[in-house]
Amino acid sequence: MTNSKKIAIVGLGVAGSYLLNRLSLDHEVTGYEMQKEGEFQAVCAWGTSKNELSKIMRPLGIDFEKYVLFNGKEMIVDLGANKDPRSIPLIGLVTYDKHQLELDLTKGKKAKFGTKATPTLLKDEGYDMIIDCTGLYRSFLPKVKEDLWIPCVEYKVSYGAREPSYKDFYIKPFEGLAGYLWSFPLEKGSAFVGAGDYRKRHNDALKEFSEQNPGTITKRIGRPIRISPPKYCEPFHIGNVVGCGESIGTVFPLLGEGIIPSLQCAELLVENLDDLTNYRKEVLQKFEYFNYVYDIIKLKFEGKFSMVRHFPLMLKTYNAMKKMEERFGLEVRMSDFKEIISTY
Ligand SMILES: Cc1cc2nc3c(=O)[nH]c(=O)nc-3n(C[C@H](O)[C@H](O)[C@H](O)COP(=O)(O)OP(=O)(O)OC[C@H]3O[C@@H](n4cnc5c(N)ncnc54)[C@H](O)[C@@H]3O)c2cc1C
Repeated sequence: MTNSKKIAIVGLGVAGSYLLNRLSLDHEVTGYEMQKEGEFQAVCAWGTSKNELSKIMRPLGIDFEKYVLFNGKEMIVDLGANKDPRSIPLIGLVTYDKHQLELDLTKGKKAKFGTKATPTLLKDEGYDMIIDCTGLYRSFLPKVKEDLWIPCVEYKVSYGAREPSYKDFYIKPFEGLAGYLWSFPLEKGSAFVGAGDYRKRHNDALKEFSEQNPGTITKRIGRPIRISPPKYCEPFHIGNVVGCGESIGTVFPLLGEGIIPSLQCAELLVENLDDLTNYRKEVLQKFEYFNYVYDIIKLKFEGKFSMVRHFPLMLKTYNAMKKMEERFGLEVRMSDFKEIISTY
């Protein structure tokens, strides 16, 4: 048990809402969220592994099943006009009401919605620790040297009585593996359809997809995703500020998947609240496998990837993911890797 601290958590997204709930029992914690409570947007496609989320939420007394909107059976990977699509079997990949879960985690805790926290605003509040959970913004920490972002845009689409063309998880990578377009089913008759692309073809691709698969767009949201892994997002802590979640790069670069890694990062912080040097070490260790994936992506972006020369990188990525199939919520197969990487 650590000594009780006065803590500010800035940003109540995935990592911040979890930390507010988890730390409030033993510490004097205040959460700051710049979005207003009633207008709060959890910008994301809400896809995750229910195996891992259930495990993470159980100790907080939260039944994750209650938040699940759609249970996936297969992920269709569109390989373009000249190849058959691939079907990746899913083992627990779901979409869930991320917005509601984040709000529920803050219930009964001290949370100030509609307050944009700045170092000046918090300067005289006497906090022992300020946790920067501001995701992409990283408002309390120095700029990242190698900061790689993928711009994204997403629509919530309602198909009403009309059947959507894709009833399960669907993705279509962009040339050069510079991103992908997705359609993730939500509650009946609706889906998040979005796209993110380093080379900025995402808006056109999304427009084309929406014309081919018409529905009513009920929401337009978007923001870039940081894909630089923690190794490139140092420092993690400086003075009384410590970063957690996407602010320090916990997004799996191949998929732009940040929910589980940000929660895992938050738990590492809870365990190391009194030893931030060890927190840094454990974060770097835990997400070391992000580095191989990031290297592949960078090589692809630069047009320098060779299936033969860089096979060891692919093998390391495959081996790491294979051991974590349940955590990813899908079957990890070398044949899929090879096919997708060689096509794009
Ligand atoms: C379009 C899109 C789709 C995605 N889809 C998926 C997906 O399907 N599955 C998945 O696993 N990951 C997905 N991700 C990534 C995932 O959403 C993020 O990596 C994850 O939410 C990061 O969590 P976080 O807590 O670090 O930051 P966030 O969840 O981004 O939370 C940061 C919070 O900080 C607040 N904030 C920022 N600055 C301040 C300030 N100064 N004061 C107060 N509040 C502040 C913001 O309003 C926000 O609520 C997606 C991301 C995007 C952009």
